Amino acid sequence: MAERKSIVNIEGLVEDLAPEDQAIFKRIFHVTSTVGELVPPPSMHPWIEKHFGSVEAVLKQRIIKITNLVTMEGALFNELRASRPMEAKDARDLEEAINAQKGGPFCRPLEGTPADVFGRVRGRHCITASNIAKYDGFHGLVIFENHNPLVFDVEEVKDYFDTALGWARAAHQMDPEARYFFLMWNCLWKSGASIIHGHIQLTLSKGMHYAKVEALRRAALAYRKEYGSDYFADLYRIHEALGLGWRDGNVRGMAYLTPIKEKEIILIASGMDDNLKEAVYRVLSRLTKELGVQSFNLALYMPPLAEAPEDWEGFPHLIRIVDRGEPFNRTADFGAMELYAASVIASDPFQVAAALR
Ligand SMILES: [Zn+2]
Repeated sequence: MAERKSIVNIEGLVEDLAPEDQAIFKRIFHVTSTVGELVPPPSMHPWIEKHFGSVEAVLKQRIIKITNLVTMEGALFNELRASRPMEAKDARDLEEAINAQKGGPFCRPLEGTPADVFGRVRGRHCITASNIAKYDGFHGLVIFENHNPLVFDVEEVKDYFDTALGWARAAHQMDPEARYFFLMWNCLWKSGASIIHGHIQLTLSKGMHYAKVEALRRAALAYRKEYGSDYFADLYRIHEALGLGWRDGNVRGMAYLTPIKEKEIILIASGMDDNLKEAVYRVLSRLTKELGVQSFNLALYMPPLAEAPEDWEGFPHLIRIVDRGEPFNRTADFGAMELYAASVIASDPFQVAAALR
């Protein structure tokens, strides 16, 4: 029987898949569902009705726990949390806070930021700088011309990525041993950005890639050894079969079933071409303009710039984007659950996919 497309119905939706897709789903994901029950005193009823619509709505709560058996990422979804509507937020206070930081060092990068030892890479809408307090040997920045980090168009996003890759090549040329490139875009303070002005951070590492990237490489390799199949292709295949995936040219996108936090999107491509950059723009644009996302993290995983001793065959270019919540909410979105157990997620991947497909 066809069930409503919602994360709380994931078990039924998987049962509806073709047998081969079901088999792939089950070797990647483990799903458990349970029901949490409670007994509210009458004195709480008005408060519950105000926040959840009715008392009945909270008496029994369906909870879905999904574990990615390949990468050991995990997420917990609660029907109550997932049923909240996603809507655009009032952005006036935020714009005021962003404008108040105008005139800082990133507004005048040539005077306000250091250059790398190999100089600066200039884009049409951005320029690179060297990070003042480094966490790797090569640690740079792409500083956007636009002060407001939430204002960008497709040409600018393409230019940011091109400039970032130009920086990576320049750094690699200085030290050919440095071959593991990582790009991260932290937007606004909730995401860990310490400076409000729009920017992307870049590192080029050596010896081994960062732990989480290396863990994914090893997981995908182990998967190929065990099943003789490509992990990333299978991951996309089951997301698409469930209605959680979409194609944007040669880029495959999905609202991930074990997101690290809210509305996590994964884009998979075979290279950093215009198609991928444009797909990134389209996702960011929809998230920020239609789904009320104001603070986000974006990360790029890709194979090393030069031959490495370990096996990177089949490892794609992978973009991960996650919503970090409302900038003026003082509560952190990550607690002990996210850090040490599994992520607690309020956004339904089926709603996210429906908005992005
Ligand atoms: Zn600025």
